[in-house]
Amino acid sequence: MTNLPSRPNLTGRLAALAHGRARDMGTIAAVAIGTVVVLVIAGQASWAGGVFAIVAVATFCTVWFFGTVDPAQVASQDEASAAAVEAQARIAQERLFRRDLIEALPEPAMYIDAQGKVESANAAARRQFRFVGADPVLSAVVRRPELLDAVADVRRGAGPQRFEFVERAETDRYFSCVAAPLGAGVLVSMHDLTDIKRAELARVDFLANASHELRTPLTSLSGFIETLRGPARDDPEARERFLEIMQGQADRMRRLISDLMSLSRIELVEHRPPEGEADLADVVREVVDALEPLAAERGVEVRVTGADDPVMVTGIRDELAQVVQNLVDNAVKYSNDKGVVQVDLVGGMSSDGAAARAGRQWDDAGHMSIVASPGPGRAMSAALRVTDAGPGIERQYLPRLSERFYRVDPGRGLRPGTGLGLAIVKHVVQRHRGELLVESVPGRGSAFGVVLPMAQR
Ligand code: ADP
Repeated sequence: MTNLPSRPNLTGRLAALAHGRARDMGTIAAVAIGTVVVLVIAGQASWAGGVFAIVAVATFCTVWFFGTVDPAQVASQDEASAAAVEAQARIAQERLFRRDLIEALPEPAMYIDAQGKVESANAAARRQFRFVGADPVLSAVVRRPELLDAVADVRRGAGPQRFEFVERAETDRYFSCVAAPLGAGVLVSMHDLTDIKRAELARVDFLANASHELRTPLTSLSGFIETLRGPARDDPEARERFLEIMQGQADRMRRLISDLMSLSRIELVEHRPPEGEADLADVVREVVDALEPLAAERGVEVRVTGADDPVMVTGIRDELAQVVQNLVDNAVKYSNDKGVVQVDLVGGMSSDGAAARAGRQWDDAGHMSIVASPGPGRAMSAALRVTDAGPGIERQYLPRLSERFYRVDPGRGLRPGTGLGLAIVKHVVQRHRGELLVESVPGRGSAFGVVLPMAQR
């Protein structure tokens, strides 16, 4: 806290003034009388002249004393200086209050004084506009014309001004701001809209993608219906072939809708940690059994290790089954014919050990942590790793893998898939406070790893 000046005490000031004046008067009188006495003794002045001079000096000093120590005058001087001190104190207090208020705001805020200087700015505003030092002129630290114009308008008396601006950087940041008059200056407060804008963009993107993905099979279906009604009406062979394709398109739409629903279900509960336990070993066995026909059809062998004894993790069985299903399904789908898919499960490891086991086994591979560890100090963990000997994924594509509808290349997109499988895996793993890792070497294959906290016993 700054020390504020205190109001002076009138009686004390009078006493001090009187004491000073009496001392001055005494000194002057003593010197003058002494001089007169010396002059009279030395015969340089007459006795009558000496007495007259002494009376004159005494009168002068008395008048001076009472004339200068006038209580009314001192009181009025005192009043004026007290008012000035009070005004100063009030200004200092207001300044402190504004500074504390602005510091307390979580979003960028600053106060520009009547001289156009930044009187106070909180840490968020200083970070945003990258300025240090006290009381800089606004236009020296802020280059945004929208902000400078709004402040100028408010200073001209235009009332509160709302405006938005985009800070172009590596990732654009959107701000909605208000400049409002406060005292003799202007308060500027900013609200970061970046997350809202991003969510809006993601929603628009998602709707566009989902409609596009659904429209493609739908267009193909209506095309075939038209052909069947027209040119192929009497061609049983063509009809059979077209109906098979139509079946494929209808299956694709069904898969899409089912994946979209899974995704929206999991997104709804993502912030809520799962309750309950599930045996991951049992889930792995069940999923691999269910995918056996698909693997056989593609000539792919699925080998499992570590799933003979229960591996109890904290989680929802159906959601974990979806994770295992999507990873093993991808491994089978993207495997070369006669390839081998390896599913390895290990329980009771430290979280770091489990992460290394699940997704850090190939030194020469591109690595990516799609869902990062939620932090240190976690319970024992289980590691699941699904490895294939498929085409692998180039390093530069790894960061985009769990984006909705993202497919690495159109050629691979020909295999039945929705581009939503890994997005679902990501959200389930996030909800389960787990980790999702991938490593891949083009030409050698890919490995997707999941780390999950073990159930507390
Ligand atoms: P999809 O339904 O297309 O398989 P995913 O979200 O499961 O969608 O996967 C997204 C993309 O990631 C796939 O289209 C594919 O390009 C790539 N991918 C996923 N798993 C593998 C894998 N095991 N091997 C090679 N590429 C893969």
